[in-house]
Amino acid sequence: MKFSKSSRINVALYHLGIYSYRDFLFYLPKKYDDYSPSREEDILDKSRVVLIGRVLKGLTTHHYHKASLVQFSFLTKKMNVFYVNAWNRPYLSSSLNNDDYFTLVGNYDKNKNIINLISINKGVLAKEGLVKPVYSLPKSLDNFEFLRLVNKAFKEVNKEDIREIVPNYFKKKYRLIDKYDALFKAHFPSSKDDVKESYRHLKYEECLLFSLKLLLVKEENNCVIKENNHLVDRTKIKNFIEDLPYKLTKDQLNSLKEILHDMDLDKAMYRLLEGDVGSGKTLVCALSLFANYTRNKVGVFMAPTEALAKQHYLTLHSLFKNSHLRIGLLLGSTPLKDRSLIRQALLNEEIDILVGTHALFSKDINYSSLGLVIIDEQHKFGVNQRHLLATKGENCDLLMLSATPIPRSLALTIYGDLDVSTLFSFPHLVKDVETKIISSNDHLINQYIKSSLSNNGRVYIIAPRIENDDEHFSVERLYEIYQNKYPSKVSLLHGKLGEDDKNFALEDFRQGLTPILVSTSVIEVGIDIKEADLMIVYEPTFFGLASLHQLRGRIGRNGQKSLFLMIYDGDDFDDIKKLNVLVESNDGFKISEEDLKYRGPGEFNGLKQSGLVSFMFANILSDYKMFVVSKEDAKFILNNRDENGFKDILNKAKASTKEEDIYRA
Ligand code: ADP
Ligand code: MG
Repeated sequence: MKFSKSSRINVALYHLGIYSYRDFLFYLPKKYDDYSPSREEDILDKSRVVLIGRVLKGLTTHHYHKASLVQFSFLTKKMNVFYVNAWNRPYLSSSLNNDDYFTLVGNYDKNKNIINLISINKGVLAKEGLVKPVYSLPKSLDNFEFLRLVNKAFKEVNKEDIREIVPNYFKKKYRLIDKYDALFKAHFPSSKDDVKESYRHLKYEECLLFSLKLLLVKEENNCVIKENNHLVDRTKIKNFIEDLPYKLTKDQLNSLKEILHDMDLDKAMYRLLEGDVGSGKTLVCALSLFANYTRNKVGVFMAPTEALAKQHYLTLHSLFKNSHLRIGLLLGSTPLKDRSLIRQALLNEEIDILVGTHALFSKDINYSSLGLVIIDEQHKFGVNQRHLLATKGENCDLLMLSATPIPRSLALTIYGDLDVSTLFSFPHLVKDVETKIISSNDHLINQYIKSSLSNNGRVYIIAPRIENDDEHFSVERLYEIYQNKYPSKVSLLHGKLGEDDKNFALEDFRQGLTPILVSTSVIEVGIDIKEADLMIVYEPTFFGLASLHQLRGRIGRNGQKSLFLMIYDGDDFDDIKKLNVLVESNDGFKISEEDLKYRGPGEFNGLKQSGLVSFMFANILSDYKMFVVSKEDAKFILNNRDENGFKDILNKAKASTKEEDIYRA
């Protein structure tokens, strides 16, 4: 849709996912800048200050080799004088007159008793203009332009077009404003209180819907009874474990016990197995699949990508090479001929474990006695994973894997009352991965690459996007750059390539024919290439912390000294602080908690990528109480499900537990 005469603007909007006027209403600011004047008596060191006053005479300009500095003193309305430094804005020397009032924003440096200027604008903002929304936009679209379009959008979209989802009962109870008004105030707040009021509605709606969904899913799963369930053969399992070349970690054993316990119950298992990268989830899965085999049932192991599915297949193969298990692999790219062989084998009960991607649940694939389904990287699939199984024998045990470890209390909020097993400890070698932030033109980058290559290492180079645009690093561009520097040593991998190309790229990389792999974050999930000892991530701020931690988990897998480089050219204090979490910590639990802290409203993409459920408004940490309240309210709704006022929200929750089952990796 064309929103503007300028094609630059239209293109930018398209890339933001704004296709209709309605979409503008839901594209919320990433933060708000507050221009309320500071209390001058107690300004803190290193804090942002807003002052209203006049520029005193005595404006001086210094020119240095590469920089310029304008200095002036500023007399506030309250008659305090502040000294101001303005770097690299020589034009100020002629534009600041002594007669007008200005609104000045800066950072206060107490030591030097100086304010470092951020902005200075003529005039004093009206009271209703003091809180300004700041959107997350590409460089080609500026905040002011965007806000004008939002304004237009509110004229195009009627109040009736925005449906209320929160039942009236709760709207009254919590004195929530209407949804349309909430959206309006989110874009055009006249005070901080407006912002709060707005988000109170949006967050509550989100929490309530989420809690309701979880309860519905749980309710559904609680009613699933397995038909003629057989007990697992614990002796066989024990013997198998004793024959393994290594010992299970304590947590692997505990998790396995919990899983076996569930498997023996008549009620179907619905359990999440969470553990940091490298904590050994795959082995626990393998043993669960083995246990399932001992009760004469078929097991299915689903991964979000073909590469990962293949890897699991090979792992199981070598693990079970002395047992009599028959293992199959089914991918979207499996040729028709092989596919029908697999179908036949399933019919004849000649397959014990089938590994694969989403293809495992296609219409033409049928299981005679499905006992256990394992879903790796569960967040890539929808909320209610049992729906994936519709028509495949729904009443079987379900085990979901998550590599985003979170504290148990949080897990309860996010996953509801789902049963959770956690791997805290790691199986073997302590990893030796160093993490650094460096700039894109740092010559050390090439030195690191050369040193890795000369040690027969492998180098991952990661970019957030596939295609070129002017402002950002893309895999296409990086591939060109590195291909030039290291001819015929570089492979390219991203989601839009055909399966064959993906396979070749990964295989050449694995074998060292092309020891450099330029890739998107598709390799984030589970890829296990032991030689990899260097990863270079471009535009790391695009990824959530949990995702970066996952990416980092791809290197140093043999315990060798490895290096994780985040390329960052910006100077945003918050970004640097965020990236530093990774420099300082290697603890997945801590990182995912920090990840949550940094999430503000409006960060649409990030959350989905980090695997922590896609909340747009609510923050699982800071809005914890609201989650707790909404959980109670959701129970109330379910207990009174026949009330008319609750019909709408119930339908919406039910519909979305199904909708989201669509594979979206
Ligand atoms: P993740 O939890 O990230 O999926 P993996 O299952 O890939 O981790 O395990 C990481 C590595 O540790 C694999 O190479 C695996 O073979 C190895 N591993 C798993 N469990 C053990 C164990 N108990 N002792 C030694 N090595 C183990
Ligand atoms: Mg894994």
